[in-house]
Amino acid sequence: MSLIDSYGRRINYLRLSVTDRCNLRCRYCMPAKGVQLLPQDGILSFEDLLRISEQAVLAGIRKIRVTGGEPLVRKGILPFLSKLSRLPDLKELVLTTNGTYLGGMAEGLREAGVQRLNISLDSLKPETYARITRGGRLSDALSGIEAAEKAGFPPHKINVVLMRGVNDNEIMDFVELTRERAYNVRFIEYMPTGHSGNWRVLSIPGSEVLERIAQRHLIEKVEPTEHSGPASNFRVRGASGTLGIISAVTGHFCDGCNRLRVTASGVARGCLFSGEGVDLRPALASGTDALLRQEIRNIVQAKPAGHEMRGGRAFPPVSFHMSAIGG
Ligand code: SAM
Ligand code: SF4
Repeated sequence: MSLIDSYGRRINYLRLSVTDRCNLRCRYCMPAKGVQLLPQDGILSFEDLLRISEQAVLAGIRKIRVTGGEPLVRKGILPFLSKLSRLPDLKELVLTTNGTYLGGMAEGLREAGVQRLNISLDSLKPETYARITRGGRLSDALSGIEAAEKAGFPPHKINVVLMRGVNDNEIMDFVELTRERAYNVRFIEYMPTGHSGNWRVLSIPGSEVLERIAQRHLIEKVEPTEHSGPASNFRVRGASGTLGIISAVTGHFCDGCNRLRVTASGVARGCLFSGEGVDLRPALASGTDALLRQEIRNIVQAKPAGHEMRGGRAFPPVSFHMSAIGG
């Protein structure tokens, strides 16, 4: 079984948000006062999330990324992940986290069958980290990263959202990190969301980041692998790790997009920047798995060719907070 959209793209990757809650308040992700949270009963139960995943895999999904909000703040996440990892035909189960809870959970995640981690880490300086996350402690994230390595996870992907004048003075520090560790450090362009009126001032084009690195280091292109995702990857000569550039604003990867998203409230979306969504709750309530599978096919069929962010010319047509959708 496979999911092919109306533009011939094969959709085999589901980003599943398990909560809109988070212990941090990253300034690029949500406003200072936080966001209007879903009521407790507005968040899908693990049972429903599992049903959606099961039907998505039956329809053709082969990779699931669990995200949020912060997925590790949700009670019962480990048993849920264990069940998810046992879905027949699911080839990859991966998770995106801010890393701050990994200290106590990395081993459990490994045992639950999570194969790889993407960890958000926007600064290597405690004050800047606290400023970006509005109060987070860098030491929590770093010890979490360490614990995940000890637990046997393969080298992490480290996500860095660069903001001009905030953390772009650390680009070279992150480059150094790839000499010391075999991480894939990915610089992500700041994307406009519901509250980020000044995003144009803050967002740094990936091409500029690469140029700044190339002025100081000899870099070589790394051939894409099945795990590269939308990043163009490079290596500073001699480094064990790699650098990724994710040009989410100035470039676009719509032509090769293989993603489907499901929010914690059960809305399936074909595109981050499209208002189109299908509420899966009626199909869940009907108890009919075939209907659920059909709704998943419907949203794949409704997936737009691309979004208006192509070339960074327009504001997104819909306003949202990244913590509500899962990034
Ligand atoms: N809490 C987890 C974390 O921070 O990794 C998972 C959820 S978070 C919404 C997923 C990803 O979205 C993170 O890597 C984060 O850096 C990214 N993100 C959030 N807001 C963004 C924005 N405005 N532009 C670019 N990336 C963003
Ligand atoms: Fe929380 Fe992740 Fe958003 Fe930061 S990026 S506020 S850690 S959901």
